[in-house]
Order: sequence, then structure tokens, then C-alpha cells
Amino acid sequence: MAAFELTEEQTMLRTMVRDFVNAEIKPVARKIDEDEKIPADLIQKIKDLGLLGASFPAEYGGGGFGEVGYCVMQEEIARGCMSTATFIGAHQSIGANAIYLGGSEFLKKKYLVPLAEGKYIGGFALTETLAGSDSFNLRTRAHKEGNEWVINGEKLWITNGGTADVLSVFARTDRGISGFVVETKLPGFSAGPAEKKMGIRGSTTNQITFDNVRVPAENLIGEDGRGFLVAMKTLDAGRLGLGAACLGTAKELLEMSAKYAKERKQFDVPISHFEAVQFMLADMATMAYAMESIIYRTAADYDAGKSISRQAAQVKLYCSESLGKITDMAVQIHGGMGYSRELPVERFYRDARINRIFEGTNEIQRLVIARDVLKRNGVLL
Ligand SMILES: Cc1cc2nc3c(=O)[nH]c(=O)nc-3n(C[C@H](O)[C@H](O)[C@H](O)COP(=O)(O)OP(=O)(O)OC[C@H]3O[C@@H](n4cnc5c(N)ncnc54)[C@H](O)[C@@H]3O)c2cc1C
Repeated sequence: MAAFELTEEQTMLRTMVRDFVNAEIKPVARKIDEDEKIPADLIQKIKDLGLLGASFPAEYGGGGFGEVGYCVMQEEIARGCMSTATFIGAHQSIGANAIYLGGSEFLKKKYLVPLAEGKYIGGFALTETLAGSDSFNLRTRAHKEGNEWVINGEKLWITNGGTADVLSVFARTDRGISGFVVETKLPGFSAGPAEKKMGIRGSTTNQITFDNVRVPAENLIGEDGRGFLVAMKTLDAGRLGLGAACLGTAKELLEMSAKYAKERKQFDVPISHFEAVQFMLADMATMAYAMESIIYRTAADYDAGKSISRQAAQVKLYCSESLGKITDMAVQIHGGMGYSRELPVERFYRDARINRIFEGTNEIQRLVIARDVLKRNGVLL
């Protein structure tokens, strides 16, 4: 396989986002964690730069950078702050993307364009009490009354659930599971308080309730009863973006750890002289290289229109587990300073953990991968 290279536009996007992250996100990342909030002026700057629609075609208000460009952007954002990457991911990669992948032209014009332009904030609402890993078991119901769908039920753990203008919501109808675009200003919609979390504390997560929420018939995403397929296809893309965010944090920690190992002296020499420290750096670098390779290979295949469900599960699984090891080694190399809030290492350590849980736990990714491996008699894709 030929080496994968970014286009000139994607390289320019990387430079632009990296400069932005260095100037505007890194200086406030600790405050975002402590305040459990991304400041409104930072969200405005993210909107102004067009980052809330980078992946979508220009005709839908996006930047036209595709999935590869989106991964480049999320990688850079997560070098500074995983909460901000999560906010963007829920809005763009799953919230708005469900409309892009499954919605009618009417829905794309009405909702995708303002979402991509950052005029609306979005989110994706699938999970419920009885439908976590078993997402097909969801109980939120939608029934038709005249020209409207009436939605009733509760969703848990919804990123941007309390702040979004528009949510892609999955509910059960007489025909199966269906997707709906729901404006959160509608009567009967409410969001609970933000959950108190271990990490990605600046990304807000809420329980949301639908009490006879009435949406117009045309807000159905795709066909009635076919919404679960839309949700699963959307999560394929979500898992690539999640992998890219893991890669960004991994690269940041590798650079921080190499620098620290050369500066910090013990026994009269920099700790980088010790083989034990070198081996951790070698393992971190090798995992980051493998992460980068599978993310961009898969994202390029996705942009080329190939089906990547198994590969996306592999990206999510490998990147999130590697990041777990990398954050642990970064803390170890930094010694006591790795445990202190003075440096961002401990924040990255806490933030990284969620990646093995959301967008489908890693056990579920293994089930998806194993099913496909068995179906293909082990032939490597
Ligand atoms: C911070 C955060 C943000 C989130 N954002 C969103 C969002 O924006 N939208 C949304 O819809 N959801 C969101 N989620 C929900 C998330 O996707 C679920 O938490 C996740 O899918 C796991 O579901 P659960 O928490 O119910 O765990 P459970 O399904 O109860 O799993 C508990 C444990 O059992 C294991 N397990 C379950 N079934 C199996 C099985 N068949 N085989 C092996 N092991 C199994 C799991 O892997 C896990 O280890 C978010 C969650 C969090 C924590």
C-alpha cells in the first residue's frame, strides 16, 4: 500500500488548527477542566474558524475536508483539550453527521447547513437506561398523530444534551427504530443537570426527557424503521474521529515526555539516559505510529466510499487502549509531576479513560470485530 499523504488543503488545515490550539485552547484547558465548562468565547472562535462543519461538503455549509480532514482537526484539538474535542465530535461527527448520512435534502438544508456553519449546536441521542451496550433495546417511543411525530421517553449520557439546539434522536415506532431531528426548544423537551465526571469535565453530559415532544413528519431521518442503520453508520465515522482525538493526545504526551526526560536529572544525569525510560518512550512512539497509520488509512477508505465498520471498530479499540497505556507511561515518566495538577499530564490521564467506554465500549468493539473475523474465516482485511 502506498504511503498516505495529506493534501495541501488538509496540511493547511492542520497548521491553522495547531496555531489556534496553541494560542487559544492550551492556555485555558486547565480552566475548562476545573470550571467544567468550555467558555462561550472559545466556542465562538471555533465556530468562526469553520471547525464545526469541517468534514461536510461546502454545499451544506461545511469546509469540504472530508473524514481525513476531520481527523486531522480532531487530532490537533485533542493535543490541547479532549473536552473540546468531545464537544466538537458530538456536534459534528455524530449529531450533524446522522442528518448528513441519513436525512432528506429538506433536513440537510434546514438543519445540517446551520449546524455546519455553527449557527446551531448539535448532539446525538441514542443511549438509555436499558439501552447502553444493548442500544437496540431502546424504549423511547414515537408515534404519528396527523402530520407530526410525538416522542416520549428518556435518554442518558447525552453529550451537549443540555446545550444543543438540535439533536438527532433515536426512538421506537411501530416499524422499528427511527431517527428524528428534534429542536430542543420544543415544548416537552427538558435536560437534567450536567453529570459530574472523572474526565472530559468541560464536555457537558446530560439526561434528557421527551414528554409529548411533537416534531413535524418531515423531521424523520431517512425511512421509518431504518434509523438503527443510520445510527450505526454514524458511529462508524464517530469512532474514527475518536481515534484521531486519542492520537492527538498521544502525540502531545510523547513530546512532553521526551522533553521532560531530557531536562529532569537524577543520579546526576537526565532520566532519558535510563533504559527503562527510553523503553517507555519507544513503546509510546510505536503505538502512536500504529494509531496514525490505521486512522488515516481507514479515514481515506471512508472518504473513498468504502464500508469500514470493522476497521472503525478496530481503530476505536486500538487507539483508546493504546492511549490508556500511553497516558499511564507519561505519568510515570513525569514522576511526581505527572500526578500534579500543575502539568496537563494528569488531566490527559483522566480524560483518556472515557475513550474505552463511549461510542460503544471496547468489549462491544471486540464483538463487532470478532463477528466479522469469523464471517470471513479470519482473512485479514
Ligand atoms: C461521558 C459520556 C458521554 C456520552 N455521550 C453519549 C452521547 O452523546 N450520545 C449517546 O447516545 N450516548 C452517549 N454516551 C453513552 C455511551 O455510549 C454508553 O455509556 C456506552 O455505550 C456503554 O453503555 P453503558 O454505560 O450502559 O454500559 P453497559 O452497557 O451497562 O456496560 C457495562 C459493562 O458491561 C459490558 N458489556 C455489556 N454488554 C456486553 C456484552 N454483550 N459482552 C461483553 N461485555 C458487555 C460493557 O462492555 C461494560 O464493560 C456517553 C457516555 C458517557 C460516559
